Amino acid sequence: MIRHEHVYIDGAWVRPRTADVAEVVDPSTGEQLAVVPSCGAVEVDLAVAAARAAFASWAGRPARERAEVLHVLTGAVRQNADELAELVRLELGAPFSLARSEHVDVPVAMLEALLQLTDEPAEEWIGNSLITREPVGVVAAITPWNYPLYQLVAKVGPALLAGCTVVVKPAEATPLSAYRFVELLHDSGFPAGVLNLVPGRGSVVGEALSAHPGVDMVSFTGSTTAGRRVAAVAAQTVKRVALELGGKSASIVLPGADLAAAVRATVENCMSNTGQSCSAWTRLLVPRSDQEAAAAIAGRVADELTSDMGPLVSQTQYDAVQDHIRGAIEEGARLVTGGTGHPAGRDRGYFTRATVFADVHGGMRIAQEEVFGPVLVVQGYDDVEDAVRQANDSPYGLHGAVWAADDEQALAIARRLRTGQVDLNGGAFNVSAPFGGYKQSGTGRELGRFGLEEFLEIKAIQFLE
Ligand code: NAD
Repeated sequence: MIRHEHVYIDGAWVRPRTADVAEVVDPSTGEQLAVVPSCGAVEVDLAVAAARAAFASWAGRPARERAEVLHVLTGAVRQNADELAELVRLELGAPFSLARSEHVDVPVAMLEALLQLTDEPAEEWIGNSLITREPVGVVAAITPWNYPLYQLVAKVGPALLAGCTVVVKPAEATPLSAYRFVELLHDSGFPAGVLNLVPGRGSVVGEALSAHPGVDMVSFTGSTTAGRRVAAVAAQTVKRVALELGGKSASIVLPGADLAAAVRATVENCMSNTGQSCSAWTRLLVPRSDQEAAAAIAGRVADELTSDMGPLVSQTQYDAVQDHIRGAIEEGARLVTGGTGHPAGRDRGYFTRATVFADVHGGMRIAQEEVFGPVLVVQGYDDVEDAVRQANDSPYGLHGAVWAADDEQALAIARRLRTGQVDLNGGAFNVSAPFGGYKQSGTGRELGRFGLEEFLEIKAIQFLE
């Protein structure tokens, strides 16, 4: 059993005054794995005060000096990659190889890419005005459980490099990798108060941070429901809000594409991390005449993947996914493979079956709502216009894929998708490219130069001409 009794405020591990604790459950067994503090408003006040006090001096350092400290932290994360991956394996249930590659190596690559951006933000002249960029101030970073370390690094890395100070609230289900990350940060030479860790409930710590007059910006990743609440609460103090929310992304296979390769890649993408990825391609759009063939291939690939998939993160998530699967069957979607219940031989924990539905149309809930589990729907389209229409027929707009005989055709379709990212013909994830959503998938962008700019204010200084 892992037991954390402290929280990290003003450069020290301190006992919280709030006596509440939260249990962390091992998703592969359903048994208790750890106990951590569950903070209250008093810890939020202390953490925000520490971040405020540290701000002027951290913001006043040259960017290169901040980068040097971040460079030390990056090295520490890299050196402790196996230990961090093991914590993600335990708290999320991700198989170790996935935990290492996607959950730790990708954040390390993100930090390394960020460290290429260490020049002072560019200043420019507009007439008699000098335009400068300055750190936005104290940032509250509220993260979800599905990529616990990645989401933390995507916020903390650029915020610190920009000169902001930070208060972190990790997801209740997955605070363990965040604890280890902050321990490494403590040993990396950051001044006291520059980063603070206050684990706790969203309804308590998350709300208190969103409402706090001492917080200048909330960077939130999570569900659209909670994101709406954060934005509403934060509006009372008119703070800046960046939201990375849900998705229901479409993978469009155009006539002339390699159907088998496109379907395989789409299923692998959808089921990766047990379907718990906001950017997952959960809708496969194929020419109507290819629907049968595509569904058969998707079913076979899903069956292959089931045995290597980790569990869902929690009983709540398991129940929600089961509800979606039952609902899809009730509304007439054809079950190709998977379905409700545990996969054979995996009755403990929150393991679920990789599931594929065919004969799905846009009016069905399973085509509209984010499942956040390993569930793919196959939809047929009449022509390319219909494919674009169906892809955009979503309250979300986070990601997508286009498969075509050549990149030119695929690009023409990608330009018409109302989403923040699109991968063409298997194009790879880029740690320096802006990531974020259109529509109800959120506001703002993370990663690389665009991610850094989220944490900067713009100032105009007028000179007498
Ligand atoms: P969630 O919204 O329940 O929780 C996310 C975080 O918000 C947690 O730390 C939680 O404690 C906190 N929170 C909850 N209610 C809050 C409130 N009222 N005020 C402030 N904070 C609050 O989401 P989750 O279940 O942890 O994560 C899954 C969701 O996150 C999915 O919908 C997924 O699509 C989305 N997500 C989006 C991205 C992205 O980049 N767009 C990335 C990962 C996950």
